[in-house]
Amino acid sequence: MVFVLHSDVSDKAQEAFATSFEEKGFQTIISKGTEHTAICLIGNTAMVDMDHVVETTDIVAYGKRVTEQYKAVNRTIQPEDTLIRLGNNEFGPDTFTVIAGPCSVESEEQIIKVAEAVKKSGAHLLRGGAFKPRSSPYSFQGLKEEGLRLLSLAKQETGLLVVSEVMNHNHLYMFDDIDIIQIGARNMQNFDLLKEVGMMKKPILLKRGMASTIEELLLSAEYILSTGNNDVILCERGIRTFETVTRNTLDLSAVVALKQKSHLPVIIDPSHASGLSSYVAPLSKAALAVGADGLMIETHNDPAKALCDGAQSLDLEQFDSLMSDLKQRVHLEKRAM
Ligand code: PEP
Ligand code: MN
Repeated sequence: MVFVLHSDVSDKAQEAFATSFEEKGFQTIISKGTEHTAICLIGNTAMVDMDHVVETTDIVAYGKRVTEQYKAVNRTIQPEDTLIRLGNNEFGPDTFTVIAGPCSVESEEQIIKVAEAVKKSGAHLLRGGAFKPRSSPYSFQGLKEEGLRLLSLAKQETGLLVVSEVMNHNHLYMFDDIDIIQIGARNMQNFDLLKEVGMMKKPILLKRGMASTIEELLLSAEYILSTGNNDVILCERGIRTFETVTRNTLDLSAVVALKQKSHLPVIIDPSHASGLSSYVAPLSKAALAVGADGLMIETHNDPAKALCDGAQSLDLEQFDSLMSDLKQRVHLEKRAM
């Protein structure tokens, strides 16, 4: 059950209202939208007379029952889109934000070269994996702490903020200088990890598990929000189907569904969705057309020699030409890039 408050209610009155329910054994989530604050009750609300609360509490504008299991991420409790601000970057309404960089950080020369090039082409943030979840234990596992250090160096050199994946909560202490923490597809349901990043004060990029439903993705995001971190960016990166031409199947409908069901920003990763560099540009344009808030694109200075995911990586020229194309389209859609 959610109670949406009038726009001019003080923090003190909001807290007192929430506390009155906590004293009755409910957990409460206070969601502060740009216009209205909503107080969501978690627990057995069958016994709460919603209409009576609305009639007798003058700070309450209206009440609604939220039938879905996910509450804090639910659009019902926050009708307006979440806008996440990070430095000069934004994820959310009327924006289209592009994260680019190699699957893995491989060397200082590589990451600096890629960072400088993608920045010149207009990328907003730099990505680079330092801890890599690989299917085979014999594949390159990432440069780990050294990889994070090189990412920080690339950030100093270019000013681009950086995104990197964490696989284990014991490693989080190494991520101080990383601006967005990525939770990869394989860890989407690592609930302990979700709760740990829920206690952090930086945005989380949460990728959809390769065999996870939209509802499961939203429930994973709910773990993060309900632990206290509202800044979650959802990422559709393709799901496993019977199809073998592509590495995964990009679920464009997921963007529509996620945006209807949740107020959180949604981006698309066309690289993992297809596994093939020649699919990345068309799928990126599809992402823009379907209403995604941005992209994450694997980009490498020499894809043929990449230690990870070379086949799906754009080279620097391909990335540059895709960005020129996207900028024109974004402009036509009257969105900012
Ligand atoms: C990645 O971003 O390099 C990655 C491993 O992605 P995913 O978790 O979507 O497979
Ligand atoms: Mn990759």
